[in-house]
Amino acid sequence: MARKCFISFKKEDEDYRDYIRDNFSLDIIDKSLKEPIRSDDEDYILRKIREDYLSDSTVTIHLIGAYGAENRGWHEQRFIKRELQASLRTSDSSKKSGILGVVLPCMNSTVWKGKLTCSDCGESHSCVNINDRTTISEFSYNYYIPHNKCSWSEGDRYCVLVSWEKFQENPSIFVDKAYEKRDDPISKDTRVKP
Ligand SMILES: [Zn+2]
Repeated sequence: MARKCFISFKKEDEDYRDYIRDNFSLDIIDKSLKEPIRSDDEDYILRKIREDYLSDSTVTIHLIGAYGAENRGWHEQRFIKRELQASLRTSDSSKKSGILGVVLPCMNSTVWKGKLTCSDCGESHSCVNINDRTTISEFSYNYYIPHNKCSWSEGDRYCVLVSWEKFQENPSIFVDKAYEKRDDPISKDTRVKP
């Protein structure tokens, strides 16, 4: 079954959004937040985004490009942060969405840093730079959900991460993986506003 997907992206990465929409057999909602929703009521803001933009999507595809880092500031990232917050929120009318992060080619060498030998356990762990220098905290928190172990296994993460190259080989496999996280025990540990 095709999962309905919402794509959260920076304007600079619009070509990738268009490519996904035009070439992949995914069910894409062709909307994105361009105007802030003016209200002091946080709950109302996220509900409106869910209703008017995300609608009944169940997976949010978050494109990780060169312009989406948390440390560029709230104002710069206000739309993608709101889109992910609304995606991560569970309400009476909709359950939180699965989150699939797609690392765009320009970010490959920044994000994927190979393997490091762990000083705690002596095993080798993958070094993946998902942090405030590469993406917004709504994604990085729910990718590296805090715990007291020395590394993260797939089951310790809510967000699913894939490179653009792997994603385009078989998009629906990764969309399904993100979708299935919604019923995984780790979905109880996500945070909407880290
Ligand atoms: Zn370790």
